[in-house]
Amino acid sequence: MATQFHVVVVGAGYAGVMTANRLLAEHPEVAVTVVNPRRVFVERVRLHQVAAGSGTATHDLSDLLHPRAILLVDSVVGIEPNSVSLTDGTTLQCDAVVYAVGSTSASGTIAGDERAFSVSDLESATVLREALLAANDGTPVVVIGGGLTGLETVTELAQAHPRHSLLLVGDPGAELPPGTRRYIRRRLDDLGVRVRAGARVTRIDDHSVRLDDGSEVPAALAIRTAGFSVPDLARRSGLPVDADGRLRVRRTLQAADGTSLVGVGDAVTVEDNDHVRMSCQAALPLGAHGADTVWNLLQGHEPEPLSLGFVSRCISLGRDRGVVQFSARDDTPSKWAVRGRLAAPVKEAVVRGTIRTMQLQARGLAFPARRGPDAPARDDVLA
Ligand SMILES: Cc1cc2nc3c(=O)[nH]c(=O)nc-3n(C[C@H](O)[C@H](O)[C@H](O)COP(=O)(O)OP(=O)(O)OC[C@H]3O[C@@H](n4cnc5c(N)ncnc54)[C@H](O)[C@@H]3O)c2cc1C
Repeated sequence: MATQFHVVVVGAGYAGVMTANRLLAEHPEVAVTVVNPRRVFVERVRLHQVAAGSGTATHDLSDLLHPRAILLVDSVVGIEPNSVSLTDGTTLQCDAVVYAVGSTSASGTIAGDERAFSVSDLESATVLREALLAANDGTPVVVIGGGLTGLETVTELAQAHPRHSLLLVGDPGAELPPGTRRYIRRRLDDLGVRVRAGARVTRIDDHSVRLDDGSEVPAALAIRTAGFSVPDLARRSGLPVDADGRLRVRRTLQAADGTSLVGVGDAVTVEDNDHVRMSCQAALPLGAHGADTVWNLLQGHEPEPLSLGFVSRCISLGRDRGVVQFSARDDTPSKWAVRGRLAAPVKEAVVRGTIRTMQLQARGLAFPARRGPDAPARDDVLA
């Protein structure tokens, strides 16, 4: 069938790959160009493993993208409703743009945080791995933030580098139920991780960090895990953004300004919906829904609103322990959880299964059901 529409997807993370593959698998009349700064997909959920040296996180995009996808290794520097511009000044004309640029670590929130390491992108995680390997025995390492990324990072590092001295500053799993928090504290104790609960880092110096109670603790390496920020591409392009620079999209994922721009993944904020957590879990169904919205817009049809429900959070605590914390649809944790040895293979299966499913989707298989007037009512369920 002759190509009738050209769509440009900006960013080949979980959300962008899903949107591109679904469009190409379901609509032979659509051509898709994917613009991404590198030839590989970065499996960000394994970046704490990259830092610890206990895993790798890259996959060739040719293995994950539909064979009809055209991959352009470049960065988009400006977006208009029907075109994007690249670093060399080239402009790509298209019928719709998908904004899928993801997130990165939040900087500028703590004085001196340019000195801190991070696990939020491949380069930072690799630099941290080298620094940990080069550090002498007993090196004081401070992980800042007791959220899920902080917990996964500090436990992975403690297991891989027992010769270093690890301190977690922050409340471990503060948003989780008491039983799960107690389990996490026991796990941290078993791994020899010290915890400064209730404290916040206010300044990072070369060999120490200062806490909000005025104390100073040694930190040859400080690792920032609290909070993600987003690229400023939407803001620079004059698109509708929230205070953090995330593209504002309607519940259909069409940009709030009503153009043929569709936003998916970490880099967007969905209007009237405050429970889309920045996560791989949400990026995939957002990507799928974004493909359906693009198709509806190309057809001149009103796109369907998004409907999401969370079921759990899978947290690794080193290679052989973890937590599967079940939650209500709106992501509020329930009292049910699987903790300990059993949860570790579950988390690993979810992470592996995600890549395996993406490989199948590149071949046109294993997509979630399409939403639309002709489809049965259902929710996208996030596991
Ligand atoms: C250590 C760690 C552990 C995590 N663990 C979990 C977990 O257990 N479960 C979970 O659900 N989530 C987890 N996350 C979060 C999850 O990785 C992100 O929410 C997810 O990657 C978001 O997917 P995305 O497709 O929106 O963006 P990304 O995966 O960030 O992909 C965005 C892509 O866009 C590209 N890009 C950026 N700017 C441009 C540009 N100007 N032009 C072209 N391309 C561009 C980027 O290079 C990248 O390839 C974790 C994150 C980290 C860092």
